[in-house]
Amino acid sequence: MTKMLKGIAASDGIAAAKAYMLVQPDLSFSEASIDDPAAEIKRLENAVDAAKDELKIIKEKAAANLGAEEAEVFEAHLTILSDPELMGNINDKIKDEKVNAEKALKDVTDTFIAMFEGMTDNAYMQERAGDIRDVTKRVLSHLLGVTLPNPALIDEEVVIVAHDLTPSDTAQLDRKYVKGFITDIGGRTSHSAIMSRTLEIPAIVGSGSATTTISEGQTVIIDGIEGNALVDPSSEELKNYAEKAEAFAKQKAEWKELKDAKTVTANGKNFILGANIGTPKDVEGANDNGAEAVGLFRSEFLYMDASELPSEDDQFEAYKQAVEGMNGKQVVVRTMDIGGDKELPYLPLPEEMNPFLGYRAIRISLDRQDIFRTQLRALLRASNYGKLAIMFPMIATVKEFKEAKAIFEEEKEKLVKKGTSVSNDIEVGMMMEIPAAAMIADKLAKYSDFFSIGTNDLIQYSMAADRGNERVSYLYQPYNPSILRLVKNIIDASHKEGKWTGMCGEMAGDQIAVPILAGLGLDEFSMSATSILKTRSLMKKIDTTKMQELAAKATNDCETTEEVIELVKQYTK
Ligand code: PEP
Ligand code: MG
Repeated sequence: MTKMLKGIAASDGIAAAKAYMLVQPDLSFSEASIDDPAAEIKRLENAVDAAKDELKIIKEKAAANLGAEEAEVFEAHLTILSDPELMGNINDKIKDEKVNAEKALKDVTDTFIAMFEGMTDNAYMQERAGDIRDVTKRVLSHLLGVTLPNPALIDEEVVIVAHDLTPSDTAQLDRKYVKGFITDIGGRTSHSAIMSRTLEIPAIVGSGSATTTISEGQTVIIDGIEGNALVDPSSEELKNYAEKAEAFAKQKAEWKELKDAKTVTANGKNFILGANIGTPKDVEGANDNGAEAVGLFRSEFLYMDASELPSEDDQFEAYKQAVEGMNGKQVVVRTMDIGGDKELPYLPLPEEMNPFLGYRAIRISLDRQDIFRTQLRALLRASNYGKLAIMFPMIATVKEFKEAKAIFEEEKEKLVKKGTSVSNDIEVGMMMEIPAAAMIADKLAKYSDFFSIGTNDLIQYSMAADRGNERVSYLYQPYNPSILRLVKNIIDASHKEGKWTGMCGEMAGDQIAVPILAGLGLDEFSMSATSILKTRSLMKKIDTTKMQELAAKATNDCETTEEVIELVKQYTK
């Protein structure tokens, strides 16, 4: 019997393939004393050999599927397993204390991990702690006879089933084989969902029970349009979904015809539709989908994709590649937005009760100015190669903006003094994603060249509802009049100062929100590249004079999300 799972539609499209369970097995063990240390050492050796064999295969596959750089980590793991000091210590513990291999392995590696983690002034060594932890898990899995999931080994079409996927897990998925994914937790604006849209992989998040309902190898249909998954579908259901997939592909082909068109409404008003990107590689997808700008380059993905802080030159190359790739169209790079659900293994952040309300984004940049200044220099140098703009994430106060801007000016002046050429018209703006900032948009508009509304965070902070928590995902209400009023306040304040406002949160590509936002006078809409063409098609059908009326009613007269949706339907019939 087919089982149906309902989740949050995270990325458009339909996929059907065998399930690949990306689930960590239970690696708990009991400590035991042993009588025959030589036999126990042999057991450990066998497990280490098996782990090495596995790592060699994974390394080769990773190099072939993901590139040499991604494969390097497995070489590091092999080196650890051949380290005489580490292995010698484990063997000694088995001999001297007559404990089983599991306990000896865990105790010794824990000591090494603590030692490396304590090297707070050496990010490289700190990162080795993570490698030892991974290697320990692998050897332990062989001692216990359980299998670890190895996504790098995937060489057939699969649907990934996971409790959650971190942004770096998602970045490693090979599109050739990974046809879709479904997770237990997460919301539409959690970063795994955002990345699935960039990668154009159909996805469902927040299903609640994917990992407990689905088993390895079962056929799963992912309907990323509706947010439904079908487990063990009948041949009839498979046929229906193949038809739905075909209809979706046809619709996409129609939208593709608008790729080189301008974005113009029925009454001749122009808007800019931009793409959100995470790496310079995404520029190709942006151009293929007819982006008129990059409204958000999430620069933190450069940091997350590296094994140490990226150098000024590495960053310069990445920004240069992005601006050059966009051929003179504007590229808005957001400075590093680490924290919340985005971690850097080599920059351990303090444990916090509420990471989304904690040390993140511009708060880190103003504190760790070494990191911030390096990034600004790389950006300033790249500004010569195209139309670059910079914005700061998570600005809450005028003071924060002024401080960040002053640091930018200092770095610019230093470079100019050194004779480095720097563009003279870099716009410096800010994300509007904290309600306090939205309320004083009139003050901030005096200093900021533009605003970009980050509704993913603006909504979570306004509604006090974690964006990654599926239990409160009903409070992700982009059309709620409360949110619309904040958005209107921001747009009006910027226009009064002769500035412009864009939106780079997911709301910008939401087909119900777009007509209202057009009516509110939003200047630029930046979204997952895959939403651009359908939005351009929608824009062609609307009249902004009518949308102004709609926007006024939605913000002033409506009480609920449902009323707003009804109103939009009436106005766009
Ligand atoms: C946002 O908060 O809306 C945004 C675009 O930034 P991020 O999703 O990366 O937090
Ligand atoms: Mg944000």
